[in-house]
Amino acid sequence: MTRAQSTRAIHGRRDQQYHSSIYPVYQSASFAVENSDEYDRYLRGDDEFYIYSRIHNPTVRNVEEKLAALENAEDAALFGSGMAAITAAILSVVQAGDIVVAARQLFGTTFRFLDRVAPRFGIQTVFVDADDLYHAPDAKLVYFETPINPTCRCVSIERIVSAAREIGAATIMDNTFASPINQNPLDFGVDIAVHSATKYISGHGDIVAGAAMGSKAHIKAVRDHRTIFGGGVNAQDAYLIDRSLKTLQMRVERHNANALALAQFFAGERRVQRVYYPGLSDSPDYELAKAQMRGFGGMLCIEFESLETAKTFCDALEVGLNATSLGSAETLVSIPVLTSHAFMGDDELRAAGVTPGMVRISAGLEAVDDLTADFKQALTRTEHAPHVCH
Ligand code: PLP
Repeated sequence: MTRAQSTRAIHGRRDQQYHSSIYPVYQSASFAVENSDEYDRYLRGDDEFYIYSRIHNPTVRNVEEKLAALENAEDAALFGSGMAAITAAILSVVQAGDIVVAARQLFGTTFRFLDRVAPRFGIQTVFVDADDLYHAPDAKLVYFETPINPTCRCVSIERIVSAAREIGAATIMDNTFASPINQNPLDFGVDIAVHSATKYISGHGDIVAGAAMGSKAHIKAVRDHRTIFGGGVNAQDAYLIDRSLKTLQMRVERHNANALALAQFFAGERRVQRVYYPGLSDSPDYELAKAQMRGFGGMLCIEFESLETAKTFCDALEVGLNATSLGSAETLVSIPVLTSHAFMGDDELRAAGVTPGMVRISAGLEAVDDLTADFKQALTRTEHAPHVCH
């Protein structure tokens, strides 16, 4: 019988030695053998034979199995950051001479990796508008995210996968904004889903981690890169992620509900020029999001007329924190041009649909009335924001 996501997130490996009800933390750099012949198991690639925690660790493996189950994937690899997972996943698919096609609308550091670092290794990226991925030019890999950071705009996973398959390209999709509870890219044929597990998967803002999920063959290649680059996660953090996963479904449901309520609140506020949230029934992405997501997510984005107004608004909050990152219990606001999309040029920002007056909001788990009251008082402060002409 297939188990529900909440059950899969709670129950993982069992401790066979002492039957502790919580899976142990194997806080050890290496694992000893009693007889050197046992290394044959390592050389044969036996998954259940552990020798060194940069390569593999049982506490990490427990979390990987749960994450694979949550993304409907055969396997998963856990990393020390989302960027470690993203770069290892990309480099496990392409090599010098290959072309990547990627959406211009991407998390800023992923954009910078593809635009500025990968070319040094002979990997070129052609950036196109996310909608143009429905007719991808020739490439080895198509890379995209939906909902897109920070605008929460959505693209059709099914159409991108079908276009990529026509040209024989692999697909990697960043599913961080949705979390595996709201959306499963592999169900639509994506080859590798990647996550910043710093966000909803760990969910408490106290860990930096990442994950990649896909077929056994894809994840074996990703994990081999992790072993060499050394971007794995430590056992303590893996344990904390295991603990976080047990409440993932409940947390995401609350994030979804709070984000919808906040989007509706901002939609009625004249000081906000535009609200981006796929769950608003007048959003251009509403029907698409409804078709490919089970919930609309905990992220929304609002737009003011200027960076100065955005700063005044963020600085006036008393409950929400003016901090980057997302998916925490605390509501977080950030100005993308100063944080997630800093170091991108004006043209690159324009192409990514990111404006100086945007504020990205990660709806937390607080009582929604406290959040709306806080945002209301912050909005009144924007009345007195200095107006700067550009
Ligand atoms: N992908 C998205 C959509 C993100 O928002 C982030 C971080 O903000 C990352 C990837 C990178 O993750 P990390 O900061 O864990 O390396």
